Amino acid sequence: MNRVNFYAGADIDRVSPLRRDADWIAKRLASPDARVLPVWREKNFVSFLDQGGETPEIAWLSAGDAEALTEGVEAFVLLGEKDGIPYFAIDLSHLDEPEAAVPHGTFVGLRDVGGTLGQSEGALLSYAKGLFHWHDRHPFCARCGSATKATDAGHVRVCTNPDCRASHFPRTDPAVIMLVHRGDRCVLAHNRRNPLPMFSTLAGFVEPGESLEEAVAREVHEEVGIHVGRVRYHSSQPWPFPGNIMLGFHAEAESTDIAIEEAELVEARWFDRAEIANAAETGLKLSRSESISRRLIDDWVSGAVS
Ligand SMILES: [Zn+2]
Repeated sequence: MNRVNFYAGADIDRVSPLRRDADWIAKRLASPDARVLPVWREKNFVSFLDQGGETPEIAWLSAGDAEALTEGVEAFVLLGEKDGIPYFAIDLSHLDEPEAAVPHGTFVGLRDVGGTLGQSEGALLSYAKGLFHWHDRHPFCARCGSATKATDAGHVRVCTNPDCRASHFPRTDPAVIMLVHRGDRCVLAHNRRNPLPMFSTLAGFVEPGESLEEAVAREVHEEVGIHVGRVRYHSSQPWPFPGNIMLGFHAEAESTDIAIEEAELVEARWFDRAEIANAAETGLKLSRSESISRRLIDDWVSGAVS
């Protein structure tokens, strides 16, 4: 149960007390060791060093190369430090052809390469992607509509209206994700968002004035018409698609009849443990291996959860 989920485990010191220390940041940016992660229009930068071109690794820029492509040091976001090496990120979305400017890698969707990255690399890319998604969606103050400006090494945006000056912080929206089970069976669903017939756990957003346990029970009832009783927390996963934290649970069903919410689901049904354990042989497609959805399923099948 202690294994860290994919997209977490960056193993980096976020040095948050130093984000306002402009001198320290300037010194770290000037360090020849500094590594900069570029992000372009929600895509991450990787290189494929192996012969077959299937194993991605993070492709870095030096701070000097990165600064030449941006509007100066304010464009940098400080991610943190690891083994004495400072890590930054920059957004190159203003370039129309970024790979002409930085030809030693390629920009890819994180979901397209996610599970093939190392744990720490996947988490760093997720961190940078999530931060720039937030910056991109918050150019204006939600209180007064004036322009906002990045401060604190890219971890705060402040309103430029002197009568407002509201501070805005990076958002991570909580969603619950849960495996509903009863005895030797569990419920999996094929969501309309998946063009392929892939079966996964149920999930939904937490609403204001609602506990996580209440959100689990409400979403399960809305999506498949099942009443759940005991709800137990399992683990969580950053999910930068585009800006969520997935909070994983196992939920015991108190009823068995399924009535699906057709706007959201194509199909939902009960599966027994053997059916899921034999998925590879029978061609049953389950959630992606790096997802918390799959981990909730696998841990239940292996008996880690009863
Ligand atoms: Zn404002």
